[in-house]
Amino acid sequence: MIKTPYYLISEKKLKDNLKILNKVKAESGCKILLAQKCYSIYQTYPLLSSVLDGTCSSGPFEAELSHKYFGKENHVHKIAFSDDDISKLVDITDFIVFNSENQLSKYAKYFNDKKIGLRINPEFSTQEKAIYDPSKRFSRMGITEENLKKIPPSMLDSVSGFHFHTLCEQNSDDLSATLDVFEEKFSKYLWNLEWLNFGGGHHITRADYDLDLLIDRIKYFSDKYNIQIYLEPGEAVALDAGELVTTVLDIVQNEKNIAVLDTSAACHMPDVLEMPYRPPLKDSAEVGEREFNYILAGPTCLAGDIIGEYSFDRELKIGDELYFQDMAIYTMVKNNTFNGMPLPSIVLQKENGEQEVLRKFGYSDFESRL
Ligand SMILES: *Cc1c(COP(=O)(O)O)cnc(C)c1O
Repeated sequence: MIKTPYYLISEKKLKDNLKILNKVKAESGCKILLAQKCYSIYQTYPLLSSVLDGTCSSGPFEAELSHKYFGKENHVHKIAFSDDDISKLVDITDFIVFNSENQLSKYAKYFNDKKIGLRINPEFSTQEKAIYDPSKRFSRMGITEENLKKIPPSMLDSVSGFHFHTLCEQNSDDLSATLDVFEEKFSKYLWNLEWLNFGGGHHITRADYDLDLLIDRIKYFSDKYNIQIYLEPGEAVALDAGELVTTVLDIVQNEKNIAVLDTSAACHMPDVLEMPYRPPLKDSAEVGEREFNYILAGPTCLAGDIIGEYSFDRELKIGDELYFQDMAIYTMVKNNTFNGMPLPSIVLQKENGEQEVLRKFGYSDFESRL
């Protein structure tokens, strides 16, 4: 028996997602990268790299992980690189994407034999959540049309591609609307470029995603401008490919029933509080829909460490195991040991039925970060 809490990654579901991504690649000619900031379980990289073309990284640590374990195209973009970042990246990076004229003029010279790109801000929002909208007013993310015009053409000579990233959990209609604006503003540059990266945020492996429109739009750009299109999804790669298994430690009453778990929103699923959202839970329903209702909460001292309210067909008991769904993404890469909370183990549910413990954590992991 594996002790809770643990993340349980589904090999089968990763493969299902890869099948869909492979279809997009085959039918559109695009290349697809894993955004490691969302999911970095390198023990599964041999599987992912059998379909995906490489990774994108947010800095030297992720780039090094990719270099060690993924071994294909290594793309790096950071809003602002330091000298130290650059010295670590020169040897292992294939594509480097700068966010400003300053960064381009300071660091491009170190990447003469690599592909150099610029992140563009199309200044076009297709979503309401400001925390996830790089196109919002006063955004630091990407070079605006006006700022791009100020970059001397001689400096642009070293640039072989553009990158934009403005979506989050969106369908291809929002991508398409963004591409219309992007083309209108930047087409004159595209004729001279080799590659164009549409960023991440494409919810490609979600059941209602319009794959045909995505494929059409990729083909339109690559045919018209003779350019290699890249996508760099994080979520779509590992969507719905993991559970967080937890045990009910106690049940207390204060007007409502409250089940205290051995997992924490603040430590093990921070997006629940940041985004915020209520994660799906196996064998449960919305509050009020079934007879037995509970607030599910963490054991930490943060009063707001609440995962959400759920209802069940049966009474919860101390010792019951619960299974939070869609927990492979933005969890293991973001978790922390606030309150001295133990980190959940990481377990792979293999297709052949075996469970392989990839990582266990203990006191030393807590101490080593202090
Ligand atoms: C976050 C991010 C991604 C991945 O986004 P998902 O929503 O996980 O698909 C890709 N590229 C950049 C630049 C990002 O910031």
